[in-house]
Amino acid sequence: MDILLDASSQPSMANPSTTPLMDRVTVDVDALAAVDTSGQWYLHGACRGLDAAIFYPDPDVVEDVARALAVCAGCDVRETCLAHALGRRELTGIWGGTTERERRQVLRRRRSA
Ligand code: SF4
Repeated sequence: MDILLDASSQPSMANPSTTPLMDRVTVDVDALAAVDTSGQWYLHGACRGLDAAIFYPDPDVVEDVARALAVCAGCDVRETCLAHALGRRELTGIWGGTTERERRQVLRRRRSA
């Protein structure tokens, strides 16, 4: 089941009220549920060695959110990270290239599907 996140509610630096940070993010929840998150995938994260505080930005500070998402965008284990975050209901911070708002969206839609 693909869930298309509506990122249009995400503010951006250009126009905080209307411009999305990302065009959209499609999450295949069924595929993510099958991802093995038991290993030490996090050792391969692009965030390794960075200050963890970067990934817990104030959701209203667009520049800080964008900085964390940019790191995730180049991460080789992004999908596994997102599967982990969804599986553990990580409701704060940036995980797998998604914001906490986006993950709440996925979890809500998964419940209602
Ligand atoms: S997706 Fe982001 S938070 Fe997850 S391991 Fe990669 S860089 Fe770190």
